[in-house]
Amino acid sequence: IKRDPNEPEFHQAVKEVLESLEPVVEKKPQWLKRRILNQIVEPERQVIFSVPWIDDNGDIQINRGFRVQFNSAIGPYKGGLRFHPSVNLGIIKFLGFEQMFKNSLTGLPLGGGKGGSDFDPKGKSDREVMRFCQSFMIELYRHIGENTDVPAGDIGVGAREIGYMYGMYKRIRNNFTGTLTGKGLTWGGSRVRTEATGYGLCYFMEEAMESMIRKSFQGATVVVSGSGNVAIYATEKAQQLGGKVVALSDSSGYIYDADGIKLDTIKQIKEIERKRISEYIKYHPNAKYTEGCSNIWSIKCDIALPCATQNELDEQAAKMLIDNGCFAVGEGANMPVTSEAVKLFIENGIVFGPAKAANAGGVATSGLEMAQNSVRYSWTFEEVDARLKNIMIDIYKNTSTVAKEYGYENNLVIGANIAGFLKIANAMYAQGI
Ligand code: NDP
Repeated sequence: IKRDPNEPEFHQAVKEVLESLEPVVEKKPQWLKRRILNQIVEPERQVIFSVPWIDDNGDIQINRGFRVQFNSAIGPYKGGLRFHPSVNLGIIKFLGFEQMFKNSLTGLPLGGGKGGSDFDPKGKSDREVMRFCQSFMIELYRHIGENTDVPAGDIGVGAREIGYMYGMYKRIRNNFTGTLTGKGLTWGGSRVRTEATGYGLCYFMEEAMESMIRKSFQGATVVVSGSGNVAIYATEKAQQLGGKVVALSDSSGYIYDADGIKLDTIKQIKEIERKRISEYIKYHPNAKYTEGCSNIWSIKCDIALPCATQNELDEQAAKMLIDNGCFAVGEGANMPVTSEAVKLFIENGIVFGPAKAANAGGVATSGLEMAQNSVRYSWTFEEVDARLKNIMIDIYKNTSTVAKEYGYENNLVIGANIAGFLKIANAMYAQGI
């Protein structure tokens, strides 16, 4: 905290992990001696750069770009790029720190990193977004590569932004490699990557609920926050598994549709028109729109899937969910549930899927995209989807087995932190300082 003040999200993420690791490091005095914990909280490399671009009025705008390469003990750095006005170094560090454990849990050879900018794509024209992405890549290209660091999307970075960045990367490097993931299907992308985080979240939660409390999505009422990439495909899979999703949100407010959300309308509004979620009631007048997004957790549900952003579900919201009979919470976003709320869920026996484990499907499928790029081959939708499902089930099994082994049965937070850490720490120890 002394060394990096003003990074509350990073401190929050580190604190949660270090607390979980107490029983592990006691058993490994050699790791303490080698200061593995001190090494693991320090990013291997942090790059901050300016991103100048010209807006549609011909004026010069300057944003700040970041890439934090956190840990490469088990593979090349891997993690998304976030474009949102709230982005700063502390946010990118928290995301990179979490990413390293998540990537380890996938079982694939992926190190951890994260990047982004305080650029806000909202309200910008296509040309402005393109000019920004190109300028961003003019600096970023020198730090990344298929065997060095492979960025992907995150908040504010979808297929459009990845396309503009990849186009510029290719022009500068004059080679066609899988240095970014989330690419379009005709130019190196993987099937199921778009759906992967949301689908993976539901595969993970389905397995966890079945094993821990013999319940499932079938017949359950579900509330999902956000209406971006993760939220949309979590909704799609929850519906396919027999759940009824009744609410979705964006940063302005939330919609409630007692008959179940019509996902085609949401895709039209969000993926094609890029408009606000309030538009939904124009198509479905029986649904209700409420200004402000935090009250979405007052809606009665069996399963809650926070899929928008960090710290969006606090203690008060957790109490409302528990009082309303909610039996499972799965983190689709990164750290959407505050530490106090996580504690409440675990104390009350709610099945709680922590982000590191529950939303690892996106990066796992990015890993599969890298594998397909390496052999210049594409698997079918069914093949990728089956691999994704197996990976999510394995993550659940590994997480719950490790939790039990250390005396914290059914505590998937501790299980995920320890399981993710062990693999990285072993590799760091083997590789010397
Ligand atoms: P998108 O940009 O596609 O969607 C983000 C959604 O969250 C939008 O509905 C947005 O609303 C809402 N949102 C963003 N910031 C806030 C805020 N401060 N308050 C309230 N709502 C907000 O992003 P993704 O769906 O890709 O990412 C969502 C979360 O999932 C993030 O935490 C991300 O790190 C995590 N994640 C994403 C992965 C992926 O594969 N995409 C993989 C693993 C994790 P609005 O449009 O109004 O801003």
